[in-house]
Amino acid sequence: MTHPDSLRAVVSNGLCIGCGLCESIAGTRSVRISMTAEGRERPIVSPDLSAETEAHILDVCPGAVVEARPPEEGVPVDLVWGVYRRIVRAWAADPDTRFRAATGGVLTALGQFLLHSGRVRAVLHVGADPDAPMRSRWVISRTVDEVMRNAQSRYGPAAPLAGLETLLAMDAPFAVICKPCDAGALWRLRRSDPRMTRCVAVLVMVCGGASELGKSQSVLAALGIEEDELSLFRYRGYGNPGKTRIETRDGRAFELSYQDMWGDEKAWRLQSRCKVCPDAVGEAADIAAADIWPGGGPVGEDAGFNGVLVRSSRGVSLFDAAVEAGFLIADDEMSAHDLDTCQPHQVRKKRGLRARFQGMSEAGAPVPKTVNLRLSALQSSNDPEADERAREGTRVRVAQGRFRESFHVTKD
Ligand SMILES: Cc1cc2nc3c(=O)[nH]c(=O)nc-3n(C[C@H](O)[C@H](O)[C@H](O)COP(=O)(O)OP(=O)(O)OC[C@H]3O[C@@H](n4cnc5c(N)ncnc54)[C@H](O)[C@@H]3O)c2cc1C
Ligand code: SF4
Ligand code: SF4
Repeated sequence: MTHPDSLRAVVSNGLCIGCGLCESIAGTRSVRISMTAEGRERPIVSPDLSAETEAHILDVCPGAVVEARPPEEGVPVDLVWGVYRRIVRAWAADPDTRFRAATGGVLTALGQFLLHSGRVRAVLHVGADPDAPMRSRWVISRTVDEVMRNAQSRYGPAAPLAGLETLLAMDAPFAVICKPCDAGALWRLRRSDPRMTRCVAVLVMVCGGASELGKSQSVLAALGIEEDELSLFRYRGYGNPGKTRIETRDGRAFELSYQDMWGDEKAWRLQSRCKVCPDAVGEAADIAAADIWPGGGPVGEDAGFNGVLVRSSRGVSLFDAAVEAGFLIADDEMSAHDLDTCQPHQVRKKRGLRARFQGMSEAGAPVPKTVNLRLSALQSSNDPEADERAREGTRVRVAQGRFRESFHVTKD
């Protein structure tokens, strides 16, 4: 299998997820993340991008390489879920945080605790763009209230790492809340950027995939609303999972259930990179938070419960301190098998991934290099016929050009 050897190869083969790290590394004069006509955030690259900078980007870009934290002596490793020191059911102790957050508010409560305790001075994450609330933009929160304001899952394109250079330039301890692909990029970056030693924690949500903006645009179209009329576009939260709530500046309000939004998988408009994501469970993070609906989906509203994978030793210290300080409530211990039953889609995806990579490769496309992800071991226990279907299906889709994307270069 070959791996992408240029930014052009990453983007044009559908392997870019629009994390924004290339913009942070190269600077906006050389690489600028922009929304494409297809509703994806992608780099627009200047011809003056140096070979050296491009090589640095390719060493960390989640379209080119995906690395999980390595196994450690005496620490459990699950084939699907990776390295973990503890899996526990938990939620934010503050009822308002728990209610307003995506699930149980664990990520928000950890961000709040980190700032409140002075362990960090800034938290990089994403939130709704106040001028265009259907879109997401990176944000650096410096207070407990700011973390709260940017709680919830943003299902469309989001480029949190476009804010990383601003964060690193602050010369202060920080944390990042992000998706697993973003966390993998940060894990790689710590080797080449000494400023990453100021990173106190990387916290992620387990991730089923990021939609193109067209998913949200189709919701507006069905309701007969123009994007410039919006004052609010909240994907979930205010309950678990809560409704998708849309408000207009002239006072109209609309709500869709989780089932309305996500019931039809064909309408998710997932980005290509997500369909072949080798790590959607945050194996590079210190702590990963998931939904834990038995069977994989909600059957109604509940108070909000996260399944929390505590992976690193510093993740253990942070989690315990947040419980001790009254920011988090830790409930029953869980097992990797419990997560399997709550996230059957993650189990299927990870087990089938190597076959998909083989299909891509047979169609002549590069695949991301993977490190510490156990993909061959996962494949070895698969039903060979199912594997063959996944391999051939991917080969055909790639050969038909369904992963192809335009690579944009600045003209001047
Ligand atoms: C695209 C997407 C797909 C998901 N798919 C699954 C899934 O398949 N299984 C599952 O268990 N959970 C999934 N989730 C995660 C789930 O919705 C919750 O985020 C998770 O359970 C954490 O809940 P919480 O209450 O602790 O989060 P909160 O306390 O609400 O905090 C969420 C944090 O994540 C940040 N954030 C939100 N959206 C993004 C984004 N797009 N990129 C980077 N940072 C972001 C916010 O800024 C906030 O700090 C998905 C989330 C997203 C964004
Ligand atoms: S995945 Fe991230 S680093 Fe790689 S090209 Fe896309 S935006 Fe840039
Ligand atoms: S599925 Fe993977 S690539 Fe897609 S947004 Fe989630 S972590 Fe990133």
